[in-house]
Amino acid sequence: MKTNAFKSLAMTGLLLVAVSVFSQQPVVDLTTPLAVDPNVKIGKLDNGLVYYIRKNKKPEKRIELRLVVNAGSILENDDQQGLAHFMEHMNFNGTRTFPKNELIDFLQKTGVKFGADINAYTSFDETVYMLQLPTDDSVLVENGYKVLEDWAHFALLDNKEIDKERGIITEEWRLGLGAQDRMMKKFFPIIFKGSKYADRIPIGKIEVIENFKYETLKNFGIGQICRQLYWLVTSTRQKRKRRSKPILAA
Ligand SMILES: [Zn+2]
Repeated sequence: MKTNAFKSLAMTGLLLVAVSVFSQQPVVDLTTPLAVDPNVKIGKLDNGLVYYIRKNKKPEKRIELRLVVNAGSILENDDQQGLAHFMEHMNFNGTRTFPKNELIDFLQKTGVKFGADINAYTSFDETVYMLQLPTDDSVLVENGYKVLEDWAHFALLDNKEIDKERGIITEEWRLGLGAQDRMMKKFFPIIFKGSKYADRIPIGKIEVIENFKYETLKNFGIGQICRQLYWLVTSTRQKRKRRSKPILAA
């Protein structure tokens, strides 16, 4: 899965360009909330989970499910740098309903290609999990919601799996080294001077990734400490039956 520091950076760049282009324009009140698409239905379940639903005509017979965790690398302490992203990876290495590799098996059965940075990403402020499923198989869709529930708070965090993942993320970190990474390390401290964004690049620190204690990850566990920070986003053309129970336990 990928981290999105550069995407955030690109947004910052766009913002700077926009500021300079429109510097002669009247001042915009930045505290005004952005308008919400009136076609989006927003609600809240009893357990606090906020959901957003939007009906789309295309692609046909597909539902897109997203679990948006309002937590990313910015919440990490010094000894946790990289653990928001690590946690995201661990959600694919065994969960309560899908132990071991069963989640990968499930995703592949749905036609979702796994391991191509398409199922999740971690950024400074959010971790997002995504599933696009065919709607003509109601069991599959039901299982899709179970996947989201597990991603929210049922990662098994098996010690052996954690150790295996250290190697995978180290490789991801190594592949991310290069000109872009060197530039980022130069101008992030300037752009974000005085802010935690300057030193919370989502991929984290290699010394943390290689050496953190199992308990450090378990304590960080986004699912445990940020349970109030979830949004469910679905996009579908078809009406779904009202669920008899909340998607996530409180
Ligand atoms: Zn990753």
